[in-house]
Amino acid sequence: MALSRHHTAGSAPMSVLEIIQQAEDFDFDPTRDLRSWLRAARMLLTEAALCEQDGNLQMAYLYLYRHAELVVGKLPLHPQIKEPMFKADFASARKIVAKNLMKLEQWKPRITMEHQRYVKAVERRNAERQRVRDERRDDEHERISSGDLHRLSLVGDEEAYQDLRETLNAADHRQLAVDLARQELRRRDVNRQSTRQAGISPHTVASRRQGMVLTTPDDEDQGGSRGQVAGSRYDERLPRRDDRRPTELRQDFTYGTPVSQSYQYPSVPHKEQRMSWDRSPAQPSRYTDNSAAPPLPAKGSFNEQLPPRPAKAGRPEVPAAATQRSAAQVTFKPNAYTEGGTPLRTVFLPPTLRTTFLNLAHSNTLRNLETCGILCGTLISNALFISHLIIPGQTSTSDTCDTTEEGDNALFDYCDSNDLLVCGWIHTHPSQSCFLSSRDLHTSSGYQIMLPEAIAIVCAPRSNPDWGIFRLTDPPGLPAVLGCHQRGLFHPHDESNLYTDALRPGHVVEGPGLKFETVDMRTM
Ligand SMILES: [Zn+2]
Ligand SMILES: [Zn+2]
Repeated sequence: MALSRHHTAGSAPMSVLEIIQQAEDFDFDPTRDLRSWLRAARMLLTEAALCEQDGNLQMAYLYLYRHAELVVGKLPLHPQIKEPMFKADFASARKIVAKNLMKLEQWKPRITMEHQRYVKAVERRNAERQRVRDERRDDEHERISSGDLHRLSLVGDEEAYQDLRETLNAADHRQLAVDLARQELRRRDVNRQSTRQAGISPHTVASRRQGMVLTTPDDEDQGGSRGQVAGSRYDERLPRRDDRRPTELRQDFTYGTPVSQSYQYPSVPHKEQRMSWDRSPAQPSRYTDNSAAPPLPAKGSFNEQLPPRPAKAGRPEVPAAATQRSAAQVTFKPNAYTEGGTPLRTVFLPPTLRTTFLNLAHSNTLRNLETCGILCGTLISNALFISHLIIPGQTSTSDTCDTTEEGDNALFDYCDSNDLLVCGWIHTHPSQSCFLSSRDLHTSSGYQIMLPEAIAIVCAPRSNPDWGIFRLTDPPGLPAVLGCHQRGLFHPHDESNLYTDALRPGHVVEGPGLKFETVDMRTM
């Protein structure tokens, strides 16, 4: 099972105790290289930072707590921990934990408040149900309330709680998602640039996350270099949302025009309206959200031109700018699950990324050599957006492709300083068909252990189909491969069904118009 297993992304607010229980629920395998555990620890910090930035404090708490648990509770048990080469990294990880513990304490009251608000909402809903039942009992012939009872019985706990953010199905709102991502990435760029120019400390950036609705005239200079926040960014990101001042907000926006200086509450539709959308008793209970999609058609029946959904006729998809929605006002709910039931956040993939990658791989492909690239991304509105294609230093043959150790280090350093999550990898099969070899499965397991949503894209230009997006099943794929200690190129695995398609109706959605940066580290 994965280190970054999470059960609750996008669902009801948990208590601190519940968050801690989930944070502690991961498997630590001491036979796995310490270096990869230290990397996993760094990814947890990035996850936490992104969740905090995304306004999801409970998940930020979960990841920081899990980081602390890993570094303080588990790593000291690792057989390699005394090796001199890991000394500095381990010491700095422990220092970060010490600082994070203070942060966790500071977050507690807000998480508790949010949880209590949720509990009260559920209680109110239950009381209302009881009232309707009582009324009905009082007058058996009273038919009016039966509709009410039916309606109330459909309201799950999470629906009773009105989240301030509008919850949407990512696959049904691809254009909105792309618009929000472009807007949000641009906003972050502006923040980084103005932070550097004005010398504003990074915590101010973190504190400013919510509420700014920014119009961006254009997105054309997207490829500009991203400023890096120097130093120990985690140390300085103490939550300061409560003490921000309008003046503090204003001075940061030198590149864009804030439409509004104050927090704009998202327009949450009325309860009646929300429930009339598409909730039906036949829906699987797993879809815990009232804007849940209708049951998915069988695999294969999807195509790019989905017919308009009559039930949503009242909510046509409109660009973010037109609705003035910002990423802070929307949350995309996970709509795919692992075989074990863990929700998978939606991964948005730029459709042009494959072609770019194939062009970069072309000279290798001609020589019958594999090429690999790393897919990196960020978290926006609880969905993952692949924003970077990184070609790390690598060695390859006709059937293999491995990042070099320096390549790996450069990659993870780059991700660290740019707040990027490693969302999987892409590689070519110059002569073979489109599948995951046993060796590929091992490579993928390394990414999925850090991020359950991580994917493997295979490009097989000479084959039909010539590409595919996969993930290991969990179970049986991920635990089986993690438990396999063979290293051969095409060694057999006992289990079948080790991997599966990840493209819709899986958790991967192509986002037309989504931009990405390419970083070729092979020449660095
Ligand atoms: Zn392969
Ligand atoms: Zn194996």
